[in-house]
Amino acid sequence: MTTIEWAGAAAIVDGPGGYAGIDATPEWAEEVRRLARERNATLLAHNYQLPAIQDIADHVGDSLALSRIAAEAEEDTIVFCGVHFMAETAKILSPNKTVLIPDERAGCSLADSITADQLREWKAEYPDAVVVSYVNTTAEVKGLTDICCTSSNAVDVVASIDPDREVLFLPDQFLGAHVKRVTGRENMHIWAGECHVHAGINGEELAAQAKSHPDADLFVHPECGCATSALYLAGEGFVPDDKVKILSTGGMIDAARATGAKQVLVATEVGMLHQLRKAAPGIDFQAVNDRASCPYMKMITPASLLRCLREGKDEVHVDPAVAERARLSVQRMIAIGNPGGGE
Ligand code: SF4
Repeated sequence: MTTIEWAGAAAIVDGPGGYAGIDATPEWAEEVRRLARERNATLLAHNYQLPAIQDIADHVGDSLALSRIAAEAEEDTIVFCGVHFMAETAKILSPNKTVLIPDERAGCSLADSITADQLREWKAEYPDAVVVSYVNTTAEVKGLTDICCTSSNAVDVVASIDPDREVLFLPDQFLGAHVKRVTGRENMHIWAGECHVHAGINGEELAAQAKSHPDADLFVHPECGCATSALYLAGEGFVPDDKVKILSTGGMIDAARATGAKQVLVATEVGMLHQLRKAAPGIDFQAVNDRASCPYMKMITPASLLRCLREGKDEVHVDPAVAERARLSVQRMIAIGNPGGGE
């Protein structure tokens, strides 16, 4: 089968939610694999991708884990099925590789909640502060950052900073609140950013779900609006302490394999359920909010992946000077240890 002979390839249309018109059929999968081999490309998919995209990828995981796989891959082209800042991070760590994203319009409301100019202004207000940025930030913001962090190591990163130095933590206010509570650090300023998907998972929903599923474990991603509520509920005795697990997406997979629970309530983007069900098929995984679906992640469709591999688009570029500074902030984080995988 060749690209031209395959009739399905002609059906790609550019719609409001991204490229559409192609179903994830066995013919599509065969064509994707063939084109990936032809381009000497490795396919990476984030945990929040559509199941069909996760299933065709060479590797599935969290953002930082995938960027590290990209850097070590033998292939010279990386196709990053995720959102734009993730593909940028892969490019920062693999400057000599070609990094493609199937649709460059796949953004992130959290990364967009602070621009490089806003960060410059904030830094000017606190010139001696150490800037700690969660990995959900643009390359330009990372380039103005002292140390990056993931949800797995945000506490360790902040704890590693001289207690007398002020800290600017960005962009996620819920992760910031979690870190401030655990470290007890008063001289920490938190940017009021949020992810609209995670912020939509709230404490009331979590409390109601916990009440109606008393034997279930609760897996909570610390970016969720409910992370604070989950800890509060545990503290008040509504949910047993040992039932609430605050985890990165990669940590959820490990915890799924280790838990003895028959049912797990999951508070993060719904795409995560696919990998959890594959990792532990005997457990009943339920979303705390089944409407928590990221529209940016879902812009990576069977059609956009096919277009990407056929046309070599969209290529991700990062200014080399920005990439160099951004790389240092990521490397400082890795040196502190336990980076986990980010979102
Ligand atoms: S789920 Fe939220 S933080 Fe993650 S990519 Fe989507 S908008 Fe960004």
